[in-house]
Amino acid sequence: MKKIKLTAYITALCAILGLHASAQAHVYASNRDAGKYVALTFDDGPHPIYTEKILSILKENNAKATFFVIGKNAESYPELVLAEFNDGHEIGNHTYSHPDMKKLSVESIIEEIEKTQDIVYDITGKKPEIFRSPCGVYSDELVEAIENIGCKPILWSWRQDTKDWTLPSVKSIVKTVTENIQDGDIILFHDYNKKGSPTPEALEIILPKLAEKGYSFITVSELLKIKRGEIKNETAA
Ligand SMILES: [Zn+2]
Repeated sequence: MKKIKLTAYITALCAILGLHASAQAHVYASNRDAGKYVALTFDDGPHPIYTEKILSILKENNAKATFFVIGKNAESYPELVLAEFNDGHEIGNHTYSHPDMKKLSVESIIEEIEKTQDIVYDITGKKPEIFRSPCGVYSDELVEAIENIGCKPILWSWRQDTKDWTLPSVKSIVKTVTENIQDGDIILFHDYNKKGSPTPEALEIILPKLAEKGYSFITVSELLKIKRGEIKNETAA
């Protein structure tokens, strides 16, 4: 892999994951110009139980979110992808099979991404405009290839990794998110999870708490569009 300059964030992330991820250009982890807006993101779904629960909590709290779906799961539960889309949430691409990114060539990864673009298009009539790599692994070559198929590569804000897939307590997820929140954060959750996922219960606490702090919840693409000093047009939040 070509040696390139790494951002502090990527370096920290790689250290945590023990991966040789790279690339800094055009990989989005927040938008610090966004003011009191944040993006809730849910990876790996749809899931037959948790996705629906999360959708109903989002609705109750007037929150829009982003679902980075795995193509294979979208094929299994197209009605859930459609429900996400119809509720005004954004659908992002998270590969077809959630492969070990270190073992695949960029060509094979792009095949996975394009297959998932088509699956989501067949369900919703719209191709995803954002992609999140499994475990956040990016190389310069992959970033370029993703941009060439019309997607923005996305990460998450490094203090906003809830690690909910490890089944921590509800309290610890709430603490991670609410105590570290910053304007324009991209928050990482998973809607596909093992039995006993604490995510829905944590969300029920987090959403009102953040709303109390003045935050509104918009999709990743909306968040990235906000420019400094601009007030977002209230359509989705
Ligand atoms: Zn994932």
